Amino acid sequence: MLANICTGAIKGIEGFAVSVEVDIAPGMPTLAVVGLPDVEVRESKERVVAAIRNSGFDFPLKRITVNLSPAELRKSGTHFDLPIALGILAASGQLSANAVEKLSQFLFLGELALDGSLRPCAGVLPMLISCQQFAKTAVIPPQNVLEGQVSSTPFITPHTLKELVDYLEERINQNQVKINYIPTEETEQEAELDFCEVKGQALAKRALEIAAAGGHNVLMIGLPGTGKSMLAKRFPGILPPLTQEEALEITKIYSICNLMGKSKLLTRRPFRDPHHTISDVALIGGGSNPRPGEVSLAHNGVLFLDEFAEFSRSSLEVLREPLENGKVTISRAKETVSYPARFTLVAAMNPCPCGNLGNPLKPCTCTPMQINRYKSRISGPLLDRIDLTVNLNPVKYTDWNKQSEGETSAQIRERVLQAREIQRRRFAGTSTTANAFMSAKELKEFCPLPTGADTILEAAMRKFGLSARSLDKILKTARTIADLERSEQIQTKHLVEVMQYRPLDRKGVADL
Ligand SMILES: [Zn+2]
Repeated sequence: MLANICTGAIKGIEGFAVSVEVDIAPGMPTLAVVGLPDVEVRESKERVVAAIRNSGFDFPLKRITVNLSPAELRKSGTHFDLPIALGILAASGQLSANAVEKLSQFLFLGELALDGSLRPCAGVLPMLISCQQFAKTAVIPPQNVLEGQVSSTPFITPHTLKELVDYLEERINQNQVKINYIPTEETEQEAELDFCEVKGQALAKRALEIAAAGGHNVLMIGLPGTGKSMLAKRFPGILPPLTQEEALEITKIYSICNLMGKSKLLTRRPFRDPHHTISDVALIGGGSNPRPGEVSLAHNGVLFLDEFAEFSRSSLEVLREPLENGKVTISRAKETVSYPARFTLVAAMNPCPCGNLGNPLKPCTCTPMQINRYKSRISGPLLDRIDLTVNLNPVKYTDWNKQSEGETSAQIRERVLQAREIQRRRFAGTSTTANAFMSAKELKEFCPLPTGADTILEAAMRKFGLSARSLDKILKTARTIADLERSEQIQTKHLVEVMQYRPLDRKGVADL
């Protein structure tokens, strides 16, 4: 007998519909899964056999073939257990004709435990969203209820395979297979970090304000204890709120990585701070079952790389693609997947390997060669993608002892939002979202040089050995500073301010 069950699968961050065909024929007892299943799907066999037996059904001792169609697309994940088990029950005649007929109204997703209970699985949200067009009711594990609610697809959440069959056979009603979860209103409201708690470091704060306003990448260089991580952790607090579309996009990525929190939709911009020992795959994504990496988990948010120069050279090099294109493309033998990865990079590093270069109290024990090697780990092409570099000096006692606190995050955010609003109007109808992402054409249109600026830029180009790409970045950043001041045109003073943030450029590296 043949049965056909609807489920889903994932490519990149989008889902697609898959039909699970189960055929049972006389012959040697085997269970074969075909249609490009990966290891995770092939392992489902053992779970399905045990779950069917432990739910009080018979596992047919015949030749069972499971085909996942479309056959040319790779299938990964553990959620195929449930549709395969139902297909076997239907094809072996253990469901009534009425129940078999009902199967076509549903989309089934769920991993099965050996006792037949439904376990949560990854990627439920993108699969529900893309399968909405088929107007089916989804069957999902109870632990995935939040994703069901985000997707606005009708769904039920049975606890076990047995309970699901009882529902299909109309032995129990819908109330028993449907839970309604009301998410707690952001109870984990973390103690809000505020810029006013960081003493001194006015230049670094200003650099972060410009970065937030125009989507620019920042590198902070300073002695240990000068507040680099304190500043970075407060950076998300001055970013604009997520739009509905952005929130859905990152929630899908977190769903695929099985990292959904307690709230329905992610409402805060992500802040990811991987350790410098991270592997390339974990940073960028990929692996034998491609999964999004840290750069995609930071999509629409912040990627903070502390001890920037300690990251492996290959990790730093693979960062170039997402920094340039806002996405990561992973090629494998049979297919190519891409994950969005448009984030703001906030990097921090010490001035030298021992961390004391420039410290008035402790001598630096590094040789000039060690210092040079340390700095040259950040390659030119990578530096080219960092718009603002700022040196942090040790906090002066007078700054630390100041009674009046600095500006609050709310005050800074106010200016950021206003600058973003100017950009929203400027780029309306295009795919550009902020000044940092302007195309060459937009650069020409929106960033005309003020009169007399030619000489300044030319002098800077000679003095710092700036590349043409660096000049473009200077203009984009100056555009953001002008927006922060609500200035229609870029002025010479805006260009001069940008120049302060370039101490690590080419020639600058040797000068330091
Ligand atoms: Zn040193």
